[in-house]
Amino acid sequence: MKNVIENKCFFLSSVTSIRNLPDESLKEICFWGRSNVGKSSLLNSITNHNIARISKTPGRTTALNFFEIEKKIRLVDLPGYGYAKRSKVEIYKWNSLILDYLESRKNLLFVFLLIDSRHGIKKNDSEAINLLQTLNNNFFIVLTKIDKINKNDLNNCYSNASKTIKKENRYNQKIFLTSSKKNEGIKELTKTILEVV
Ligand code: GDP
Repeated sequence: MKNVIENKCFFLSSVTSIRNLPDESLKEICFWGRSNVGKSSLLNSITNHNIARISKTPGRTTALNFFEIEKKIRLVDLPGYGYAKRSKVEIYKWNSLILDYLESRKNLLFVFLLIDSRHGIKKNDSEAINLLQTLNNNFFIVLTKIDKINKNDLNNCYSNASKTIKKENRYNQKIFLTSSKKNEGIKELTKTILEVV
């Protein structure tokens, strides 16, 4: 079943204006988090495609990048936040694009919000979590790069994350632990995606 994602995932479009979003005929799952959190690596691991190359092409780092799996579901790569080397105008523009998308997208099933396990939940991660909770978006927390920290630190990070989110539905109850480098936790993420494909 995993092959559906691995074999049939293709780049659909790169969108910088809410007017140009693809139609809402397919359900979408999106990936979000601080820049450098490991989002591209995770998407690559899940799809076994070099999504990072597309998502990091200049001009596409500040766009919503849509990938489609066999006309069944779309994976959406949102621009990372906390990227210092950008002007306020640029940051404002892409924040409003993300906000518009999260607020209005009817076919958005849920968000994977990635948090770097080494750093835990930073101020802008909290803001992202608050936004998702305010907008009533379903989301899962995904801790990344777990190969880089020891078990104790990981436990602390896990329990902090767990305390931060409101456990109102099944999404918030699960926190994924992942390492793209060691291929850990990828199967669980894939399984969650396949459940809705
Ligand atoms: P993005 O900016 O969120 O798309 O992050 P990238 O996927 O480009 O990763 C940023 C950096 O973290 C790169 O140097 C990756 O090689 C590294 N990285 C990503 N995932 C992992 C992981 O699971 N373990 C380790 N050790 N490094 C990772």
